[in-house]
Amino acid sequence: MTSVANKVFVNKLVIASNNPGKLREIAQILAPLGIAVVPQSDFGVSEADEPHCTFVENALAKARHASRHTGLPALADDSGICVTALGGAPGVHSARYAAPPATGGGRDEQDRRNNEKLLALLENETNRRAHYYCVIVLVRHAEDPEPLIAEGRWHGEVIATARGSGGFGYDPYFYLPGFDRTAAELSPEEKNAVSHRGLALAALADKLRVESKE
Ligand code: IMP
Repeated sequence: MTSVANKVFVNKLVIASNNPGKLREIAQILAPLGIAVVPQSDFGVSEADEPHCTFVENALAKARHASRHTGLPALADDSGICVTALGGAPGVHSARYAAPPATGGGRDEQDRRNNEKLLALLENETNRRAHYYCVIVLVRHAEDPEPLIAEGRWHGEVIATARGSGGFGYDPYFYLPGFDRTAAELSPEEKNAVSHRGLALAALADKLRVESKE
């Protein structure tokens, strides 16, 4: 059981990410719970290092970093695409799979290069199976010994030609046989209902509801 000292009725969370695509999805899912989210950039918090080889360690490091610098409860996710034929790569390295552009170019250019690298590696590969993975960590304070942790997986296939303009990152190439659409062809609501991040946030929301009743 969660100890009384650990109980916090969270109504405002710092989000340990500056990725606008993720921030939008997280805000949409937590709004019905009455939880307002504030990006860490509003407090001038820089992005934490992600040196670990597991998603959960990276998410925990990011959440503690944001909470330490703001004094507020913080939520971090770590996520990526894991391709079966590549032994789970790019995995925790999904955000910077390809070398960053020498002259900047921002997130869209990095995403374009990541997709280009992934497609090149899969060019002669018939096994196109992949899944997105997401773990969400919520710390009530920087030293929280009982972080809330939830995860989600979303299975699909990597296709060779981009489709759709929604989402971000690998979404235009992430094909969902059940929908006959890519993730970039889903509306934000459709994506949130089934995505790795949506499932992880829903599981986290369940944990928050249980905690508020304990
Ligand atoms: P991080 O969680 O910020 O370390 O980075 C996750 C990276 O995985 C993103 O920058 C994307 O490249 C990829 N990724 C994670 N979730 C999604 C998604 O929902 N759509 C597309 N790409 C994603």
